[in-house]
Formats: sequence, C-alpha cells, structure tokens
Amino acid sequence: MQRVNSAFQYCDQLVRDFEKVIKKPILNKSSVYYTGVDLGTAYIVLAVLDENYQPVAGAYRFASVVKDGMVVDYIGAIRIVKELKQELEQKLGTELIYAAAALPPGTFSLDSGAIKHVVQGAGFEITNLLDEPTAANAALKIKDGAIVDIGGGTTGISILKEGKVIYVADEATGGTHFSLVIAGAYKLSFDQADQYKRDFKNHRELIPVLRPVIEKVSSIISRHVTKHQVKEIYLVGGTCCLEGIEDIIAKQTNLPTYKPQNPMFVTPLGIALNC
Ligand code: ATP
Repeated sequence: MQRVNSAFQYCDQLVRDFEKVIKKPILNKSSVYYTGVDLGTAYIVLAVLDENYQPVAGAYRFASVVKDGMVVDYIGAIRIVKELKQELEQKLGTELIYAAAALPPGTFSLDSGAIKHVVQGAGFEITNLLDEPTAANAALKIKDGAIVDIGGGTTGISILKEGKVIYVADEATGGTHFSLVIAGAYKLSFDQADQYKRDFKNHRELIPVLRPVIEKVSSIISRHVTKHQVKEIYLVGGTCCLEGIEDIIAKQTNLPTYKPQNPMFVTPLGIALNC
C-alpha cells in the first residue's frame, strides 16, 4: 500500500477513534454535538463529534435509498436517518440537534433540496450542506492533487489546487459494479457477492477478478486528471478498502496513489467537521 508517512496522521487517528466509538460511544457531556450525515448509494453513515471535534459516536446502515447521488427513496431515507439518530441519542443520553450533509461532486443543483429535507425530516437542524470532496478534505487536509472517492454507485473525482476544489466530476462506476462482476464470476447473488467483497480475507483472491473493472475506473480517473497536471491521487470511499486497488490505480494512471487506513469513513467524518 502506498502511503505518505505523515500526511494522513490526523485523518487516520480520526478514523481510528471513530471506529472505536461506533462500537462503544463516549459519554462525555459535551456542550454541543456535531453530526455528519452521509447518504450514500450503499450506506447511510452518521458520525457524531463533540465540542472539540472528537468522535464520540457513530452508526451506519446498508441502504438503497440513494442512486448515483440522487435520493430515490425519500421516505426510506428519512426513516433510516431518524432510526440511526434515535439509536445514537439513546446511547449518548442526549438529543442530537445539529447536522451537516454532503452531495457528490456536480449534483448540487440537482439534489441539494432532497438531501436537506431528508436530514431535516429526520429531526435535525441542518447547519451546512457541502460537496463531498470539500468534506473529505477537512479530514485529509490536502493542498494539491486529486481526491478520488470510489463509493457504491459512483466515482467522484475532485481536483484541488492550493487547498481549493477547482474541478469536480462524478462518474457512474463504483463498488456496485465490482459486486456485479463478482456475482457473475462466482455465481452469487448481488448481496452475497457484496458481502464476499467486503471481507478483507478475500481481497487477494479477488484482485485478479476485479482488475478489469479497476482498470476501467483508472482510465476514468486518467481522463479527468491529465487535463489538470495532477501529481498525486488520494483515495477515499468504501471501495478503496479493497487491498491492492491503490497499486493498480497507481500503475494505470502513472501517478503516486495514496489512501488513508480506512477510506470509508473519511467523508462522513469530514462532513461532521464542517457541521
Ligand atoms: P456513493 O458514494 O456512490 O453514493 P456510498 O457513499 O454508499 O456510495 P461508500 O460508503 O463510500 O459509498 O462505499 C460503499 C461501497 O464500498 C460498497 O460498494 C461496498 O461494497 C464497498 N465496501 C465497503 N467496505 C468494503 C471492503 N471492506 N472492501 C471492499 N469494498 C468495500
């Protein structure tokens, strides 16, 4: 795995702390709590930070309420966010009031209203609605390069120069396609294939099977980054949990490619940091 020694220190620590509080929330009587709501194609994630922006609780659920960044099951989305909110409130013994949410790059004008109404419909007061790359970069803290977010339904490509997002694109290839490839190759249902893919024990075996689809994602990335003289790629999103994906992307794009320890929770935590 290619990594920068210090670049991800803050991000890795934040994610490690978050993984701990998902299992065991911290009851610390903060004066205020900030919740990041990440509505994804595959997962809905809630990340709760305290007044010092430290993770205190988190929860996530597999859901099919969003497709390619658009809310397709509005009522289902509200119900799940509400249930996760209540679950976390019970654990923390406090009401969660403030939340921020994010949208995939390029979908702001299309769907910001729906995402906002889901978060409000679940009982939150929304304090910020931002784009996913800006959210992810609150945790990554990158100045120059491309943040590539390979999620469930899509791959988001965001190019940063001097800390500012200067270019975004969202392409309809993501982890769902990886699961479809596995389902076909192993004669499994989609859910079985997705589960098989998420098990780290299977990654080494799966890389050759998934190589063509990873190469396709790499060619999509190349198409966007070559126009902007990008020197480095930073991977986030659940699909980048796949061990070895970074090496194929680095080889195909011919660019140094880095990923934090757990790329899946970077965006939800970044959203909470922007609450
Ligand atoms: P999108 O960003 O497309 O709206 P999302 O926010 O739900 O979707 P993520 O939560 O970042 O996306 O990633 C979900 C994808 O990550 C799914 O396809 C899931 O199967 C995959 N995934 C999750 N964990 C792992 C893992 N350990 N190994 C491989 N893939 C994983």
